[in-house]
This record gives sequence, C-alpha cells and structure tokens, in this order.
Amino acid sequence: MPPLEEIHWQGLGVSEGIVIGRVLRMHSGTRYVYRARIDEADIERELRRFRAAVRLGARQLQKIKERAEVQLGKDHAYIFDAHLLLLEDKKLIRDVEAYIVEERANAEWALKVVGDQLLSVYSEIKDEYLRERGSDIDDVVQRLLVALSGERPPHRNLSHDAVIVSQDLLPSAVAELDLNFARAIATDAGGWTSHTAIIARALGIPAVVGLRDFYRRARTGDSIIIDSSNNEVILNPSPATTEHYRHEADRLSQRGRTEALAERGPARTTDGIEIILRANVELPTEFAGVTRYGAMGIGLYRSEFLLSPRAGLITEDQQYAAYADVARVAGEAGAIVRLFDLGGERNPESWDGQQNPALGLRAIRFGLRQQEVMREQMRAILRAAAEGKLDIVLPMVTDVDDVRRARAILQEEEAGLQQRSVPFGRVRVGAMIEIPAAVLTADKIARVVDFFELGTNDLVQYTLAVDRGNDQVAEWFRTLHPAVLQEIEHSLRAAREAGIQAIVCGEMASTPAYAVLLAGFGATDLSMTPASIPRVRHALNNIDSNAAREICLDCLQCEAAEEVETLVRKRFLAKWPQVFSVRNLPASRKRQ
Ligand code: PEP
Ligand code: MG
Repeated sequence: MPPLEEIHWQGLGVSEGIVIGRVLRMHSGTRYVYRARIDEADIERELRRFRAAVRLGARQLQKIKERAEVQLGKDHAYIFDAHLLLLEDKKLIRDVEAYIVEERANAEWALKVVGDQLLSVYSEIKDEYLRERGSDIDDVVQRLLVALSGERPPHRNLSHDAVIVSQDLLPSAVAELDLNFARAIATDAGGWTSHTAIIARALGIPAVVGLRDFYRRARTGDSIIIDSSNNEVILNPSPATTEHYRHEADRLSQRGRTEALAERGPARTTDGIEIILRANVELPTEFAGVTRYGAMGIGLYRSEFLLSPRAGLITEDQQYAAYADVARVAGEAGAIVRLFDLGGERNPESWDGQQNPALGLRAIRFGLRQQEVMREQMRAILRAAAEGKLDIVLPMVTDVDDVRRARAILQEEEAGLQQRSVPFGRVRVGAMIEIPAAVLTADKIARVVDFFELGTNDLVQYTLAVDRGNDQVAEWFRTLHPAVLQEIEHSLRAAREAGIQAIVCGEMASTPAYAVLLAGFGATDLSMTPASIPRVRHALNNIDSNAAREICLDCLQCEAAEEVETLVRKRFLAKWPQVFSVRNLPASRKRQ
C-alpha cells in the first residue's frame, strides 16, 4: 500500500506543546432530532419523560463534576456548576414544558426548539468569551437528548498516545474521558477562550482549535502530530517529519523544564537591558501560570471577566474577595486591576440602541456614566489593597479629563472609607493607552497618571479602523502597520520623558518577534499570557537591544505594513537565526 499523504492543517494553538500520537475521533455528540405530534392524552407522559431526563442529567452532571474536581481541580469543575444551574433554570424547563403542551410536540423536539432559541441569542453576542458560553447550553441539551433516548453516555478509556480529534469538544465529554491518558486535543471549532482551550491549558496538554474541516479527514488510529506553537496539526506524517518533531519535542521539553522552572525575574538582553515580564490574567484558571512561568506579578487583570452574563454585576464584598485573591497570587510585584472594560455587547443596558458598541458607552465611559458601579469597584479594590499590592488602570481613556474625573471619584471613595474607619490601601492610577487620541496627548496624560499601559489590541483596532473581532477584515488588522509603530514609539517616549512606568500589555507583548521590536522601541516592561513568558524570555535573552533599535528605526521609515513585515522577517533571520525561523516571524500576507 502506498504511504498515506502527509496533510498539514492550520488552526489556532491555544495550549503549548508538541505531541506525536494517534487520532481518537470523538463525535461532538450532536444528535438529529425529529418532530413527532403527540395525542392530547400523551402530553402528561411526555412531560414526565422530560422531567425524568432532567433528573437523570442532573445526577450525571453531579458525578462528572466530582470526577472533574479530582482530575482538573476545583477551579475547573465550576464549568459543571454552570450546567447544573441550567438544569435548575426554571425558565428553560418551563419553556420546554409549555412547548410540549401547546404544540403537542415530543420532548426531544421541544427541547431542541427552546435550546436553539437560547443558542441564537448567544451566537449574536460579539464578545468571544461570552459567545462561547453558548456551548454550555449545547452541552446540556445534548445530554438531555441522550437521557431521553435511554442510552448511556459513552465512557472511554484512552490509549496512552490518544490525541482527541473532535468537531467541538463539549466540556462534559472531556470530563467523562480518562484524562490521564489524553495527550492532546484538536478541534474544528473553538477559540482562545473556549472551554476546550481552558481545560487543555489547565491539564497542561497541547491543543489546536479552529481547524475547521479537519475532523472529517481524520480517522481513529491515524498518526498525528500536534504542534501548537506553529498553530498546526499534521496528519499521516512521513517518517522524516516524525523524526524532526520527535527531536523538536525533546528539545522543547528540555527547554521547558529549564526555562519554566529555573528562569524567574526579568529577561536580560545580551547588552544587559532588563525587561520585566508580567502576566495578563482573566480567569482564576490562569492563576497557577503566574508562578509557574515566573511572572513578576500581574500586569493586567481584566476584571470584567468576574461578571457572568447571567448574573451580571457582583457585590462589593464578592469583588473585594476576588481582588484580594489576585493580590495574593501576584505577590510582592503586585497586580494592576483594570476597571471594568464593560459596555457595548457586554452590558445589555448600554447595548440597547448602540449601533456601534466599540465606539460607544464602553469602559471608562460606562463607569463615569454608571458611577455607582465604578465607585463600588473602587471601594472593593481599595479595601483589597490593604491585603496586598494593587493598582488601578483606567480602560479606554481619551484624554486627561477622563483621568481627572475618575481620580476625583477615587479620592471621594478613599475619604468615605477613611471616615467609616474601613481599612484600605493606597493605589497608583494608570491609563490604558489604546486610543489614538490618548497617544497624541500622551505627554499631557503622563502628567496626571502614575503609569501607562499600552493596549496594542485596541490601538490597532482604533488606529486602522479595523474591528478586531471581524474575520472579514482580519487581513487589514496589521499590528506592524507603520502608524501603529509610530504610536508605540510616541507613547513610550512620552512616558520616558515624564519619568513614569510604561507597560505594554496587548497581545503584541506575547509574541516573541513583536516583543523584540517593543524592546527596540524602548519598552522595558511587558505583560502577557503567562504561558508565553518562557518563549518571550528566551527571545529577549538572546538579542541585542541596540540592534533591535536599528531595525525599529528602519521600520518607522516603511510605507505600509507589508513592507515592515518583510523587513522584520529578513533582518531577524539574518541577525538572530538561532532565535527566529520563518515559522515564528510574521508571515507574508500579500494579497493574491
Ligand atoms: C488591549 O486592548 O490591547 C488590551 C490589553 O485590552 P483588551 O484586549 O482587553 O481590550
Ligand atoms: Mg483594550
């Protein structure tokens, strides 16, 4: 038989590492459901059947949750609390029952219709994290459909080299597996914040998601390689490819062992410039990574992730406990809590009537309008600052006015706490520099804040007028656009001249090649996804900041993003071939 063709697929690597193994295909569990019209006399029986399925589903979920607590730890088992809550959701249950009665429909069909309605609400949500929470609904609906069919959910024991390949891995399906043996995960659906990604990172196994049509091509037992740092999976690799990856995997695990565990503290370029590496954190699941990867504290805590779409805002005391936790995890280097970057699609009240949420009542604007929300959050942070080192950063600042207004409110809250003898700590106040207007007035803003945080994700979005979540215009989302680079240069210079700290915390800082450019622009403080720290540290430890500076100056002379990208590729390969290869440099995106 001729050897099978080696096929390469691109997706999104969401959990680091290389694995060579064999495919275990898992159907996502989606079932086809048909409508049956039932007699009036059978309605009661149908309702009983549905309620029994809900009870069975709840018992199964309870067991899964207990199993997940052992395998994944308590932090991750919370996913199944969300599922259990859905089963307790009176409205969902009532809606299905009402559909059965009014439409004389079978329970399966009623469940599907109500589930689809709820899912369509979620699929409209622009925010990726919240949108992907729709998979909870899908998971629960699929579980109830299996329960209604009288089948038992499959329980699988995995072979020692199983790479799970699925269309979309539902969290409860993952928890039902014997995770001790799952080596890696590859799915057609999913993004950075999908549950698959969260669980894979928690388990420390590599995962590539967003592979679109890969599931259809893979067969259980096929050889497969997962290479998440290159966002790639390879099906039926040739012996030469397998050998190459075996070597790479050994090198990585060797490097991972030394880098992740031995290296702490700042990176140091070959000419002796120290660069601080901090962690960006959204969820408690990422806390462990802060110490594991040797981050110097938390450079950006995206506090809006505390809020669930269903429950909305949480109380001051709950926030206080969460911020005290963040301070504890961050340790001596401290944590910077960003005030809620709320509004737009994350907050239905303000969403109403906002044609263009990204330009609307978002972030600090939302806080200044809904002052009670901002005051409550400030009180919680101030109180938690008595327990550890915390600072505040204001999101989406346009000019000094935004800062002055927020600072005045903070002062009032400090005075209030003092008056009531509530213990609190002093915090520094910084501004996110992520809007072109803030860049252009950075010298003025620098006089009224203690530090800057450069949010390059929004800076690219607002400078290039490209929606960061719209894949139709992804081709225009060019981090290395000369306009963006000029803004970075300008903002960092303004901070230097004013003698204040500047942290770069957008995704740019998480990418080794971009981090080197940032060092060339004079950045000495970066905050990133914890798992990226070893790679960024490795790159920075092996480059000379003067050489990086020269490349940056040449980039500033370029006319367009394509020219910068080509220049960076050429110069990095020539200068630092031991650190960079074509695979970890910006790819050409020349239009065909
Ligand atoms: C940014 O805009 O670069 C940033 C760090 O914040 P967020 O991605 O949360 O908008
Ligand atoms: Mg931002």
